[in-house]
Amino acid sequence: MASKKIVIIGAGPTGLGAAYRLNELGYDNWVVYEKSDDVGGHSTSHVDGHGFVWDEGGHVIFSHYPYFDTLIDKMLGKEVHERIRESWIVQGDDSWVPYPFQSNLRYLPKDVQVKCLLGAAKAAANGGGRDAKNFRDWTLGTFGEGIAEAFMFPYNSKVWTTPLEQMSKSWIADRVAVVDFKRLLENVLYERDDVGWGPNSKFKFPLHGGTGQIYRRMAEQFPAKIHSGKKLAEVDVARRRVSFEDGTGDSYDVLISTAPLDLLAHMIRPVDEKLREAAAGLEHNNLLVLGLGLKKKIETGRCWIYFTDSAMPCYRATYFSHYSPNNVPGGDTEKYSSLMCEMSFRVGETPDPERVLDQVIDGLIRAKMLDESDRQRVVSRYHRVIAYSYPIPTLGRDRALEILQPALLEKGIYSRGRFGAWRYEIGNMDHSVMMGVEAANNIVAGGEELVFRSS
Ligand SMILES: Cc1cc2nc3c(=O)[nH]c(=O)nc-3n(C[C@H](O)[C@H](O)[C@H](O)COP(=O)(O)OP(=O)(O)OC[C@H]3O[C@@H](n4cnc5c(N)ncnc54)[C@H](O)[C@@H]3O)c2cc1C
Repeated sequence: MASKKIVIIGAGPTGLGAAYRLNELGYDNWVVYEKSDDVGGHSTSHVDGHGFVWDEGGHVIFSHYPYFDTLIDKMLGKEVHERIRESWIVQGDDSWVPYPFQSNLRYLPKDVQVKCLLGAAKAAANGGGRDAKNFRDWTLGTFGEGIAEAFMFPYNSKVWTTPLEQMSKSWIADRVAVVDFKRLLENVLYERDDVGWGPNSKFKFPLHGGTGQIYRRMAEQFPAKIHSGKKLAEVDVARRRVSFEDGTGDSYDVLISTAPLDLLAHMIRPVDEKLREAAAGLEHNNLLVLGLGLKKKIETGRCWIYFTDSAMPCYRATYFSHYSPNNVPGGDTEKYSSLMCEMSFRVGETPDPERVLDQVIDGLIRAKMLDESDRQRVVSRYHRVIAYSYPIPTLGRDRALEILQPALLEKGIYSRGRFGAWRYEIGNMDHSVMMGVEAANNIVAGGEELVFRSS
């Protein structure tokens, strides 16, 4: 029997993960269609007109999977920097607490420490957030009122742009540091720093070309297989044919789609109202990436800083020139540095990037990350709007996915990746690459899709 033809939509980490694996298996009957002229999806990087490199938000490489580690080694070899995470939370204007906030309460003013500890003690006595019905209640139940109000509520509201009571708690696993009360108390009493939590406490970053370098190198393995400028418009599930906006098309036996699942549901022909209705239960937000290229040396071990203050539009600022000197023009960090900030916004909103950049500079000055005189040293004001940045784990998400995914699979469609699977808890690069790899394994040899099927 002839081999199945596999069409892959999207040359981001998931699509390229699938392609890489098929290539590795020696399977030849596949092709990638990508709407842009670039590869890497949200994990690509851009160079601005002044020679500063920017990612689409702060990306760092860390991994839960040996296959992904080996792939990174193969793609980057020694051209990689390793960094120890040094991350802080700025409270109010310029009070700094090491990340994770809840583990380092001793940095707070005494009255806030007392409030946080009392709240945490009460939460622990009440059994934690296990029975909570939503993310807000889980936060209160797990950390108590003090920590919730000082950090978890304001920070998460900025990132998710969604009322926290409308979010589920199903994504939390290794995304939020849950620390027991004894440790919180000991850290305060013994004046102990506790900063090593989490899978990204150490991370890697490509020496050249930003995060996108990984995916450019992957794509170089099979350039003839990737067709750019091909935006998927329709999927005829009866004839197993994809059509692109430019009027061309192709047939498939199996489709791996990494396009946003809500949009895919609307591309299915014949129209399937059940899928469209389910897709209405999927919510996302968008991102404004703001870059400041500075003619100034910044020597720091800091990686990224979180902001809770509502006057500061961004939720995070990254010392991007600390990740690699080649993120600044000519690799000259004696002369240049760069800060990259991220602001989430809701679908339908249209923030004014220039105005937000001004507010961000003010916020960075208030936080003492920049001086007043640095306004003159800004040589590049960069911005990029990123549509579909966070797949929001709303209360209705899982019900929608339970309808969409089996129905699509029945039609030979694997919807995988950050927005293909629409599960933030498996939405990082390592998860995405592995979802692609495992989809390929499954299609060719019946291998298990462990990442996609993980609960
Ligand atoms: C702000 C931010 C910070 C992040 N930080 C990290 C981090 O530190 N570490 C980490 O590991 N991960 C991080 N991530 C996650 C990372 O960006 C994603 O895991 C990864 O890019 C997802 O890969 P993907 O291929 O599933 O989707 P995408 O990256 O979205 O790629 C999908 C591809 O499909 C193409 N496409 C979409 N629709 C169509 C269509 N109709 N026709 C043809 N092509 C189409 C797109 O152009 C794109 O190239 C971050 C993400 C964001 C938003």
